[in-house]
Parts: sequence; C-alpha cells; structure tokens
Amino acid sequence: MTADSSIPEVSAAEERTTLQIPSDATPLEPVAMAKAVPEAERPSEDTPLAREIADLTRRRSALAAEQLPLPPATRIFTVANQKGGVGKTTSTVNLAAALARAGARVLVIDLDPQGNASTALGVEHRSETPSVYDVVINDEPISGVIQASPDFEGLYCVPATIHLAGAEIELVSMVAREQRLRTSLLRFLEESPDTFHYVFIDCPPSLGLLTINAFVAASEVLIPIQCEYYALEGLSQLLNNIALIERHLNPALMVSTILLTMYDSRTNLANQVAQDVRDHFPEQVLKTPIPRSVRISEAPSYGQTVISYDTNSAGSLSYREAAAEIARRGAPN
Ligand code: ATP
Ligand code: MG
Repeated sequence: MTADSSIPEVSAAEERTTLQIPSDATPLEPVAMAKAVPEAERPSEDTPLAREIADLTRRRSALAAEQLPLPPATRIFTVANQKGGVGKTTSTVNLAAALARAGARVLVIDLDPQGNASTALGVEHRSETPSVYDVVINDEPISGVIQASPDFEGLYCVPATIHLAGAEIELVSMVAREQRLRTSLLRFLEESPDTFHYVFIDCPPSLGLLTINAFVAASEVLIPIQCEYYALEGLSQLLNNIALIERHLNPALMVSTILLTMYDSRTNLANQVAQDVRDHFPEQVLKTPIPRSVRISEAPSYGQTVISYDTNSAGSLSYREAAAEIARRGAPN
C-alpha cells in the first residue's frame, strides 16, 4: 500500500486528462506553503492546478480525520447492472479496498467468468485454481477457495476462473439453483471466527442464473451507472428483475445504493445524466460521483486497486469518499 505523503501525488497521466500544464511543473503543497510564504507573496488558488491540488489536499485531510463506523451485522451487496462496462468491477474492488483500508473486514466474491475482480485484487485465478465455480456447482465451502488480498489486511476474495462460464448452463438442472451461493455464503459467515463487515458480489453483465444467485445471496443492491447517454436504458428492466427476486426469492433485497461512474463534470451530458439519476433516485444516489480517471483504469494491469496503486489520486479519493458515505449511511432499515 502506498503510504500517505505530504505531497499529493497527482500523476502526469492524471493531470493530462484534466489540466494542460507543463510536464516539469512541480506540485505545490498549499498548507505547507501557507506557513512558509508571507501572505502578500503567496500565489492565489486561482490557477486550475493550484485549485485542484488544494481541493485534493482538503479531501485527503477530511478522509484522514474520519473514523468510519463498522456495521453491527454483515452488509451483503450485489453490484449489478446488465449493461457491460459501466464500472461494476472497478467499483466492487475499489469500494472493498477503501473499506478494508478504513479498518473493515471485507469479502469480494467474483461471480463473473471474466475474472476481472480477481485480476484487480491480485489473486490467483488460473483455470486450475479453486474458485467460486467449485462453491456454486460442487458445494465446496467458501473457506476452501478464499484468498487474502496481497495489498490490504482484512480484504479477501473468492476468485472466478474460466470454468464459471459453464456454470450458467450447469445450474439450470440443479436443485435449489437460485439459492446455491446464498446457502454457501451464509454458512461461511456463520462459521467464520472473525466477523466480516462487508461482502461485495461482482456480477457479470447479464441477468442470468449467476446474477440471480447474487441477488438471492444479498440484502442490498449497488448499481453503478455510467454518466452517458444510454445510462438509463435497461435500468427499468434491471429494477423489474430485482422486484421479482424480492417478491419470490429474497424479500430482504433492496436497491440501497447507486453510484455515478466515469463522470466528467466538464460535459453537459454527464451533468444532465447525473441530474436525471438523482431526480429519479434521490435516496439511493451517493453524493460522490466517480470521475473518469486514467489512474483508475491503469490500476488493474498492475493487479491492484487504485486505492493501493495511487492512493492520493483523485480517483482513489473519490472511491474512498463513496465508501465513507456507504459506511456512514449504514444498512437501510
Ligand atoms: P463488465 O460488464 O464487462 O463486467 P464492468 O461493468 O465491470 O464491465 P469495469 O470493468 O469496471 O466495468 O469498467 C469498464 C472499463 O472502464 C474498464 O476498462 C475500466 O478500467 C474502465 N473504467 C472504469 N471506471 C473508470 C473510471 N472511473 N475512469 C476511467 N476508466 C474507468
Ligand atoms: Mg465486470
């Protein structure tokens, strides 16, 4: 994990996406500078770079000053949206890492045959690795397949391998096919000597039996919504499916959290989409949107979350703020 340093690490790559500054510009530390330079000679915060750095510094200090509450009982989230590439996996791993960094014990279940969450958390998921496939299809206990994250104490992952691709078909003919993950997860949580505070289940971009297993195992649904034109298309189908699951298979299920992802505040479209989503779901949408960030998209290629890859970047701070909101709000009643 990268330790907090007194100088905000705004990478050149990150800056290129938001600011046009010379590559040899050195980041300024407004707080230290305020002490060292007489007020009359101090550069004001009215350059974009100085404003951005001052903002990052303020946000980092606010996060550092806050002790997040831990939930009294395990909160189980399914992260779902049948639309592909909206930030399900990115949000799963980064929120999980942010909560673990803040002292929670967190389990990520990778329920997508693509295995992207396993990659981002840096855990083994070659085809012969014991995985969530063995849990769902072969009744292997979760304790037999779980792996610890190399970067965060208290963060664990049930990996997915390519075998999971066949599970949708294999599940069709199985007994209690919608309940298999739930049964296994509840047994694991009950038997685990240490309390898990959060479980996040990363779903594939479909509404098949794997996603249904995730909905049945969870009490909360977190929907990432990408701030682009088609964002709300398909959402009513997703909400209808969740309502059906709630009626027939899991009365405790509710959509507790909506997270705006890949938000670019400079475009009218992103602002319009964000406003539409907030108007429709005022209770559920987190205040913090996740910005489009090169650092966020780079992190998985290093087998890391952005929380460890570049902890002080704007993307990391946003995920840490979103995680803090989730923790502060607590489970819905
Ligand atoms: P799938 O439906 O295939 O499972 P997904 O919903 O899980 O996709 P991700 O894999 O999290 O979506 O993200 C899709 C792509 O967008 C990835 O390449 C990811 O690195 C990138 N991405 C996600 N969030 C951001 C962000 N805030 N800024 C920049 N890139 C991002
Ligand atoms: Mg994904």
